[in-house]
Amino acid sequence: MPLWFARGLRRGIVTTRYPARPDSSAADLPTPPAFRAGLLDHRLADRLVAVCPSQALRRDGAVLLFDVGRCTACGRCQEAAPGAVTPSGEFELAGTSRAQFVKRIGLVPEVDR
Ligand code: SF4
Repeated sequence: MPLWFARGLRRGIVTTRYPARPDSSAADLPTPPAFRAGLLDHRLADRLVAVCPSQALRRDGAVLLFDVGRCTACGRCQEAAPGAVTPSGEFELAGTSRAQFVKRIGLVPEVDR
């Protein structure tokens, strides 16, 4: 029996102190991606759009639109472009309107790979 379970039964507290205190397990959570705009061209952006299962990514001309509200932090875009896409480390997202969750990422002209 895990120690935290026995302690919870004894004290009557079965939850962590989050959000009053950061939870150490948060470091292990998957987080939405962060994009390095200087490495993203149209071709790579189209590849990222193609691998995203939740339609969180869309290209509009020279801009990659990232809808954080749709992102499930699955990591497929990071696997497709590990240099240009990294975990953001941020999972606490809040906003007062839906539009605040859509990020516009400018694309560079073709990048040699
Ligand atoms: S982490 Fe997954 S859901 Fe989020 S943008 Fe990347 S591919 Fe799409």
